[in-house]
Amino acid sequence: MTAMISIRGVSKHYETSRGTVRSLDDVDLDVADGEFITLVGPSGCGKSTLLNLMAGLLMPTEGDVLVAGQPVTGPGPDRGVIFQQYALFPWLTARQNVEFGLRVRGMKKAEREQVAQHYLELVGLGDFAGALPKELSGGMKQRCAIARAYAAQPSILLMDEPFGALDALTRVSMQENLLETWQQERRTAVFITHDVDEAVFLANRVIVMSPRPGRITEVIDVPLAYPRTEEMRLSPEFADLRARVWRGVHHQPEPTTA
Ligand code: ADP
Repeated sequence: MTAMISIRGVSKHYETSRGTVRSLDDVDLDVADGEFITLVGPSGCGKSTLLNLMAGLLMPTEGDVLVAGQPVTGPGPDRGVIFQQYALFPWLTARQNVEFGLRVRGMKKAEREQVAQHYLELVGLGDFAGALPKELSGGMKQRCAIARAYAAQPSILLMDEPFGALDALTRVSMQENLLETWQQERRTAVFITHDVDEAVFLANRVIVMSPRPGRITEVIDVPLAYPRTEEMRLSPEFADLRARVWRGVHHQPEPTTA
């Protein structure tokens, strides 16, 4: 089976006045269709670089980035990207923001409105379609950005710390809503986070990276069923997974049982 995303021997080096920065070094990763993977690791380990290579916003120094078997040569409508900053047009309402990309693609007004309303409802913003971004909280703005990305019907959603600016409680409800949306739509998802809990809660695989040079050091399967629930967060299995990811990020060895 062809992977939805294939990273083959990818390195990305930056030439700077202080020498070469090996942002990513010989990285291999396959992401299957419909997977939800999270990327974790300390700042500077190359998470954003890897995501931007998948998005086609950067090109590798060496190696290949393939999406559905085709080399990535630039950004495309098959990949939706969501950043930490909400990037909504402040003068457009929530629905107009979601409709924007659909209008650019030539979708007729009535259909556009219907599609936008559907995705706003999916992210719990059905009653806020007419609100301007300044009338929405941070979490609501990010939900709107997620609705906009989904409305464009990409095969892949690439998310770079989308909940990084939100408070802990909002973050938890955003995680649940994102998973509900993902389960309905089953797009392949790649999600960067610093938060070990978030990494485990969302993913079916957690990819742990380390810096200098940026490499994948561990891939941790999360064998918890979807839908994920609040009880799961409190389960011993979740605690074990969280501990494994934490040790991976902090380079701590597994405890010995002796
Ligand atoms: P992360 O997302 O894990 O914090 P990044 O992918 O942003 O890591 O960065 C990886 C490394 O590459 C860091 O050391 C960073 O300083 C470096 N880097 C990223 N972008 C550039 C750039 N445009 N020029 C030079 N170095 C860069």
